Amino acid sequence: MTEKAGDLLSLLDEPDAAYLDHLLYLRRLRGAIREKEAARSFVAAAAERWSRQYWDASVSAEGNALALGVKRVRTIRPAELPVLPYRAFYDASASEIRIFSAELDNVLSAQEECGRPVFSRPVLTERLIAHEVFHHLESQRGEFMDSLAASRGAAESRIWRDIGANAFANAALGSPPNQLVDLIWMMKYAPAGLSRALEELDAQTEGDAGCPVPPRRHVQAQPLENTER
Ligand SMILES: [Zn+2]
Repeated sequence: MTEKAGDLLSLLDEPDAAYLDHLLYLRRLRGAIREKEAARSFVAAAAERWSRQYWDASVSAEGNALALGVKRVRTIRPAELPVLPYRAFYDASASEIRIFSAELDNVLSAQEECGRPVFSRPVLTERLIAHEVFHHLESQRGEFMDSLAASRGAAESRIWRDIGANAFANAALGSPPNQLVDLIWMMKYAPAGLSRALEELDAQTEGDAGCPVPPRRHVQAQPLENTER
């Protein structure tokens, strides 16, 4: 294995949810890292409270969804409906969670290529359902994380809703964090974008000694095809 690819894979070994949030989602929002991190911790803390309030660890993710008022959890296969560029989706008008099996396959085959079976198919499905349950709760409560983040002075973006949904799923289901689903997908399908993301985040954190998101200069993205296993 090349040294650089090995470094990238190390992101999978000790995943830090806050670092991954900045790398994958918050990097492109305006504002200083310090301000974005303050809003991120605030949103994550709210999502963790919801997890304690609503999630029953003795029941499956689908069981939780149904108990919380989701009408149906449906797996969509490619022949059934056009596959959306999502792994999962919450349709608020139908109170339905849809899981797109083709996109699940893509994540599973990407992690197979890294040689790191981070998520089994059932675990991945549970995690995606937990993420969508959070969007269902946002709808039910009429409280959306983009507004919450904006109330803390952060740039308004739908990204905050996914930050909350991942924090909720991580609090409900533990390690490894949901953010790895997107990281693994990018390692295979968008290595150039991931490489750029790492450089941009490094540039944003550079020279800021008190930065709440420590730079990881050694990490470089390489297409997985180049790794020797
Ligand atoms: Zn989401």
